[in-house]
Amino acid sequence: MSTTDTDTENNYTDSPFLRPDLTDCLNIGNRVNNPRQLIHKEDWQILFDTDDEVWFLDNGNERLSGLIQKLNPKRALVDCEPEIWNVPYNLLNHVCERTAKERKKRMTQLVMVATHARNIMDHHGLGNWSFKFNNAKNLGSCRHTGMQIQLSRKHALNGTEEQITDTILHEVAHAIAGPFAGHGPVWKDIARQLGAIPKANEQETDQLRKTREKVKSLHKVGDSVSFFARGRYHFGCIEKMNPKRAKVLCAGGTWSVPYQRLEKGKPN
Ligand SMILES: [Zn+2]
Repeated sequence: MSTTDTDTENNYTDSPFLRPDLTDCLNIGNRVNNPRQLIHKEDWQILFDTDDEVWFLDNGNERLSGLIQKLNPKRALVDCEPEIWNVPYNLLNHVCERTAKERKKRMTQLVMVATHARNIMDHHGLGNWSFKFNNAKNLGSCRHTGMQIQLSRKHALNGTEEQITDTILHEVAHAIAGPFAGHGPVWKDIARQLGAIPKANEQETDQLRKTREKVKSLHKVGDSVSFFARGRYHFGCIEKMNPKRAKVLCAGGTWSVPYQRLEKGKPN
């Protein structure tokens, strides 16, 4: 079976339909190609994780449900035994209400960061530039040809406000400095004036790693921790600390949890 966005699986017809529960808070309406649009179709994927139980209506309006097998840029592969469906994110619903509520917080954060970026861009004269999140490893990027500033979705969800602001200013400085300035003296000068740390992206990625290390340093083997997964809070004890994730022993089994998702003690 193929695991890409190809036509080997049942393809769901694209629809302009937007989930009614979220259109209000996102304020994106139905306009297509609006340069000031903050949240795009690809961003809906943050509401889902692999193994999430979801339901959707097929073309005949029949309700199907299954587990998410893979998250592709615009669609999720949903295993509805015996068939695999390729479903756009805006048509998927969580079976578990609590998971839905928990994930909605991610979208709220994304909207906040996008609004923040839009304000900074407007403030520095980039009103005709557009903004978009991406899945890249770099924290941010500046596309001169398309006049677009992009920010990593992961960075927007896990970075501190200070780091995120610095990345946005870094990219705004690239936009102002022009396509040939690179990280040279002209760009550095503008970055400094805007209040950004005049360093190249590679070092910023380093900064993200530092954030994880900081969270990691707050925990040790044997600590009691809680985390949210598959619709509920789990409580357990750290058994092992791997580079990026902790092995947490819970009543129902062992979980591998990214450090940024761990909370100290019992769930409140
Ligand atoms: Zn740069």
